[in-house]
Amino acid sequence: MATGDLGIVEKTGANDLQTKADRLVQMSICASLARKFPKVTIIGEELVIWVDPLDGTKEYTEGLLDHVTVLIGIAYGGKAIAGVINQPYYNYEAGVNTVLGRTIWGVLGIGAFGFQLTEAPAGKHIIVTTRSHSSTLVNDCISALNPDHVIRVGGAGNKIIQLIEGKASAYVFASPGCKKWDTCAPEAILHAVGGKITDMHGNPFQYNKEVKHMNSAGVLATLRNYDYYASLIPNTVKQSLVP
Ligand code: AMP
Ligand code: MG
Ligand code: MG
Repeated sequence: MATGDLGIVEKTGANDLQTKADRLVQMSICASLARKFPKVTIIGEELVIWVDPLDGTKEYTEGLLDHVTVLIGIAYGGKAIAGVINQPYYNYEAGVNTVLGRTIWGVLGIGAFGFQLTEAPAGKHIIVTTRSHSSTLVNDCISALNPDHVIRVGGAGNKIIQLIEGKASAYVFASPGCKKWDTCAPEAILHAVGGKITDMHGNPFQYNKEVKHMNSAGVLATLRNYDYYASLIPNTVKQSLVP
């Protein structure tokens, strides 16, 4: 960013961007894992680490820096068990006397840390969804939920932060596009505080290494009242999203 050239590459020609920051953070995470755990042995290949070096790349390229997160998720036996959401630009507009950046982390059965768990306003239906990957289906699904308010922000990590900090009551994304590295770390943190995340059919995500990367049947996540939102997803939406 400081050089003035983000080194943007379009990966699939569908608003699927990669920047030099994505590439550098990925290399740096891999190098530090190798340095800190040079003798790590994975038995039975059951432990898988899902890394999104830069989640919210589209927003990063547009200067919406607090949408950006770095996601490191750990899966064991195909289940998300631990996760880190680093938000490097948290507080970037808050001025002096604030600390730039924060790290939220969680472990299933232990809890989640680095933030203040906050309930969304009672009785209000606040939906958080994509800012840059909308479609008719995405919007039709949200309308079917009769929201009081819709928040459009970038990044899967950032949207889970909206849930656990009480800014939104449900993350609803009726579209393919989101990948396992987008949901693994957020899922572990959300589950560690009693929330729930599935595809639009209510299927849990699997994170073993053979699994398909794409969450092709969308994402539905809440901290509370999952069943209420799941019950309102129209059948037409479900039929359009093949797991
Ligand atoms: P968003 O909510 O649009 O920020 O998406 C969350 C994550 O899923 C980001 O990493 C996006 O890059 C990815 N994603 C969602 N939809 C698409 C899509 N249509 N094409 C490529 N990536 C997508
Ligand atoms: Mg991502
Ligand atoms: Mg990314």
